[in-house]
Amino acid sequence: MILLIPGPVTTRPEVRAALNCDLAPWDNDFRPFYSAIRQRVLRIAGGRDGEHAALPLQGCGHFITEAAIRTFVPPGKKLLIPSTGAYAERMARLAREAGRVPVPLPVSPVARAEPAAVAAALEADPEIGHLGMVYSETGTGVVHDVPAIAAAVGRRVIVDAVSAFGACPLDISAHPEIDAVVFTSNKCMEGVPGIAFAVCPIERLMACAGNAASWSLDLADIYRHALRHGWGSFRFTPPAQVLNAFKTALDLFDAEGGQPGRLARYTANMRVLYDGVRALGLRPCLSQEMQGPIIVNIQAPDDPRWDLQAFVDALKRHGFLISNFYDTEMPSFRVGCIGAITPEIMRRFVAVVGEVLGELGFNRRQAA
Ligand SMILES: *Cc1c(COP(=O)(O)O)cnc(C)c1O
Repeated sequence: MILLIPGPVTTRPEVRAALNCDLAPWDNDFRPFYSAIRQRVLRIAGGRDGEHAALPLQGCGHFITEAAIRTFVPPGKKLLIPSTGAYAERMARLAREAGRVPVPLPVSPVARAEPAAVAAALEADPEIGHLGMVYSETGTGVVHDVPAIAAAVGRRVIVDAVSAFGACPLDISAHPEIDAVVFTSNKCMEGVPGIAFAVCPIERLMACAGNAASWSLDLADIYRHALRHGWGSFRFTPPAQVLNAFKTALDLFDAEGGQPGRLARYTANMRVLYDGVRALGLRPCLSQEMQGPIIVNIQAPDDPRWDLQAFVDALKRHGFLISNFYDTEMPSFRVGCIGAITPEIMRRFVAVVGEVLGELGFNRRQAA
């Protein structure tokens, strides 16, 4: 089965094979292995030794996003979260339930956030200490220009790069305003799910100790633990096999030419999909200019017989799995361009979409 979802993504067989072992995470052989992974992650984020730290946390993207908010935004304090889509809403909920005060800023679901609008919202409220932004908004498919916005706003910034990291460029050394860039093993890094990471400036981790009001979700505590017990040690039991698979995923990432190589392949996948579904008479939700390389939402045929689950089930019979829900206002279906997917696989998928529309009795040309 080929997963065309925005994570967990289709992985290479070498990555899955690396899960097939027993590992003791406290063993002396595991420690240098694990600290080397942290070092490689730090490098990909543009972090510098002694200035930045790579902080792994067991679990998923929500956990690391909440940990970043808890660590850097003091309880009761405000953060501006431009409402770019479903994942910005999730960030806002994480902040609210952690006792922080998310301040929304309306953003069109079919356009990039305007740097001037973000700056104006922050200027209007000097009590807002942080900007929280989703880099690649998985709900809409828009990649926002977070590096440019972050550099312009003059506040501390938390970047949800969960569906961007590894494909979209971000150099934390060039952004002293960034407190945390957060991401997981299982999206553009093409590992399996189970471990999340934050890359943060050490100076800020020191300054923000005590904010989190949580032991599990405190990035400053993860940093302190590394200082005390070494960069090869975990506070709590880690998903050791997932880390083993992640090491293989990092090797494959390097072999592909790192972030630029990955972005090029995902962009090629997106183009094949975007142009292919249009040729079938379907309409993507975003204009070409706004369409990011990570995920494409495609408008459902305007037909009362349309049933997303029936469409998903039919695609599955042909070996492709897509999401059975959508995050857009209009009914749509969403297709991920990330993972161990090539343009050739995407061409096959487009052909299958055409076949399935036929099987389900949709006249493709009238579909749009
Ligand atoms: C997937 C995703 C998350 C959440 O990740 P989980 O691992 O499902 O918790 C957060 N933000 C963005 C932008 C995502 O794409």
